[in-house]
Amino acid sequence: MNTPLHDLHIHTNLSLCSSDPEQTVENIASWAAAHGVGTIGISNHVWDCDVPAGSEFYAGQPFSHILRIREQIPADLHGVRLLIGAETEFAGGKIMLSQACRDQLDYLLVPHSHIHMVGLVLPADRVTDEQVADYLVTSFCDLVKKDCATIVAHPFSPVGRTPVQTKGILDCISDEQFAACFALAAQHGAAIEINGSAFEREWNDPQLMANHERMFSIARDCGCIFTLGSDAHALQELGFVELAMQLARRLSIPDDRFARL
Ligand SMILES: [Zn+2]
Ligand SMILES: [Zn+2]
Repeated sequence: MNTPLHDLHIHTNLSLCSSDPEQTVENIASWAAAHGVGTIGISNHVWDCDVPAGSEFYAGQPFSHILRIREQIPADLHGVRLLIGAETEFAGGKIMLSQACRDQLDYLLVPHSHIHMVGLVLPADRVTDEQVADYLVTSFCDLVKKDCATIVAHPFSPVGRTPVQTKGILDCISDEQFAACFALAAQHGAAIEINGSAFEREWNDPQLMANHERMFSIARDCGCIFTLGSDAHALQELGFVELAMQLARRLSIPDDRFARL
């Protein structure tokens, strides 16, 4: 397998949850060149200006904020290809970035699993593992049916939960449920992200990795297309894309099943 290594999920220090002042396009491109990552995609958090921001976190990250990236692109990218995307939000059944904004980007990452945002993303009455799992299944299907997400960011990764809690939630989703979700994603052309940050804590524990591998194997068998992402918010996290690549290799995902952006 000779899949060109790419990382389409990188935050810079424009994202308010990045606390690394060194997380700049310049430094990311240098790291990518040194590690054989041929294409990088910047995907800072964004919430559209047309809709009142759903939280203080998003109030500081309108589209105009993330567009500042265009002034931060160095002349020399060390031969690395650069794409400019964004990671928006899917809340209350809505994608929080207008078509006019989306048209200005190379691609759009949309998560359905920012369930740490209780009340905004996860309804407050979804408490048990079964209820959270049910939310993840429903929100995944609702999202891909919108035909807006180029890539579903960290699918079925319950953000904010520990590895053991994650296992408890994913144990509640059957193979048949995953297959129904991924068949829908394949039909709608939404790429499935293999996000290294989503399982880096589980990486050396086969029992905790098993559910991630089960999920991605089903996505592979449903004919989905994939992308790789580190979800790095700091320079030291860029290496998580290598875990994503290793998992793709372990699951024998063929080269032609990676999105060509
Ligand atoms: Zn995310
Ligand atoms: Zn992210």
